[in-house]
Amino acid sequence: MSTPPHTTAGPAAVTVLGLGRMGSALAAAFLAAGHSTTVWNRTPGKADELAARGARHAGSVAEAVAAAPLVVVCVADDEAVHQLLDPLDGALAGRTLVNLTTGTSAQARANAAWAKERRIAFLDGAIMAVPEDIATGDAVLLYSGPRDAFDTYEEALRVLAPAGTTHLGGDAGLAARMTTVVAGYVTAAAPEVDAGTYPAGDATLTVHQEAMRHLAEESEALGVNAELPRFLQLLAGRAVAEGHAESGYSALVEQFRKA
Ligand code: NAP
Repeated sequence: MSTPPHTTAGPAAVTVLGLGRMGSALAAAFLAAGHSTTVWNRTPGKADELAARGARHAGSVAEAVAAAPLVVVCVADDEAVHQLLDPLDGALAGRTLVNLTTGTSAQARANAAWAKERRIAFLDGAIMAVPEDIATGDAVLLYSGPRDAFDTYEEALRVLAPAGTTHLGGDAGLAARMTTVVAGYVTAAAPEVDAGTYPAGDATLTVHQEAMRHLAEESEALGVNAELPRFLQLLAGRAVAEGHAESGYSALVEQFRKA
């Protein structure tokens, strides 16, 4: 069965594969925004609540995929994505697949190549939010992959993160790379925090403080909200005043710990 690509008339029909904590929140957001929403989950009972609210509960992945030109997948990991989608054999051709399952940039690029071979428009997405944040101003969702696919479904995707939906570029690995970078920082900072020593590594707090000041001034000059860089600049200034001018970024933990 073929579904024509979405045109601008009315909200796009969407299919959500995977109804764990996050997938359920995504499907609920599409439903609440008036999108015709088809859902599927490996454990079918998890679809009951959404079905009661008007979602169509598909009996199989193939049936779910056939129901909409926009297919969002959000399952545990990349292996689960392939267990679900590999057997579909052409059913996704001509559709747009948005993978919101967390993965690496290498997985995202491999998935983009996999999708291209099957004539699927593929966007990789990174969710920088918890399920409760979805559809609120606190949600941030980053996308990478073909710009035209993003443009076609931007309105629908914006339902999930009304103030935080961003397309990073055509390279499908970009969205995952952002999360990998953040995860890398956290992993590196954790032992420093445990040891109470904060080596400067790439830059000292004095340098970071200046960078934050520049960011704040640049934001203000552009009319963009500068509260966050100003706040970080303030914290860095306090840490510097307490003797951490030559320490690294992780020294800020001592400021976060204060009441
Ligand atoms: P979850 O509540 O544990 O749900 C996992 C989902 O994956 C369930 O729908 C599960 O189906 C499905 N699944 C697992 N293995 C499968 C397989 N082999 N075939 C088919 N379905 C399979 O996890 P979640 O919190 O929704 O997270 C889903 C994704 O969102 C993850 O990649 C996670 O990193 C990402 N994410 C989550 C959060 C968050 O705060 N929760 C934030 C950002 C990103 P069953 O119900 O049948 O087990």
